[in-house]
Amino acid sequence: MIEEQYDILLELQKIDIDIDKEEKKKRNLPLMIEGVTKEIQRLKNSLKNKNEDYKNLQIRLKRIELDLTEKSNKIKKHQEDLYGGKISDIKELKQIQKVIANYQKEKDSIEEDVLDLMEEVEDLDKSINYLDQDLKVKEEEFKKRKEEMDLAKLAIKKNMDSLNVKRGEILSKITDDRLLKEYELLRKEKGGNAIMEVDGSICPGCYLDLPSDVIYQLKKNRKIVICPNCNRILIWKE
Ligand SMILES: [Zn+2]
Repeated sequence: MIEEQYDILLELQKIDIDIDKEEKKKRNLPLMIEGVTKEIQRLKNSLKNKNEDYKNLQIRLKRIELDLTEKSNKIKKHQEDLYGGKISDIKELKQIQKVIANYQKEKDSIEEDVLDLMEEVEDLDKSINYLDQDLKVKEEEFKKRKEEMDLAKLAIKKNMDSLNVKRGEILSKITDDRLLKEYELLRKEKGGNAIMEVDGSICPGCYLDLPSDVIYQLKKNRKIVICPNCNRILIWKE
């Protein structure tokens, strides 16, 4: 009678181990999208920074263009003085020419800066485009992985449901409540097998040699024995 209960416990343990496996699979599900989620976040951050740079470059360009207009206006004004015929003093005219030349020099240098900045804008524009494309690819990948993950989740749920039904059926056959509680405590403690079938001289739970009297009891009397080393419940495998 009691032996029968242990056989049922063994069945229960098989189901419980399968349930543990499904639970582990469920815990690991987020790993399916972890990498691609991180990659998307990295791309988004990168894009944000580049767009910020782009905006700042545009502002700098606007400022420089204002500067350029100002220099042009100044040159124009001095040229009007120069060619307007109002000034006849040679020295003063030469002075104005010098001022115009200086402004022109400054203007040339600013125009070079503008060209450099425009090149920077172009490069930035390109890398923003690349990042955009990469992001789209990764978001597509995320979608796919998420779908796979949801399917896996469903499969796990289906497995768990049927395992729990089987577990319920087995539980209804256990009449020894104390034995069940002991089994559950032992399984929690051992994190896997609480009850082991023995067919030799070694405990399959702790891999240590069993004393000969323990083997004798197991073999001859088919008694339920507790492993003196790991405390697991041992039963003889026929
Ligand atoms: Zn043992």
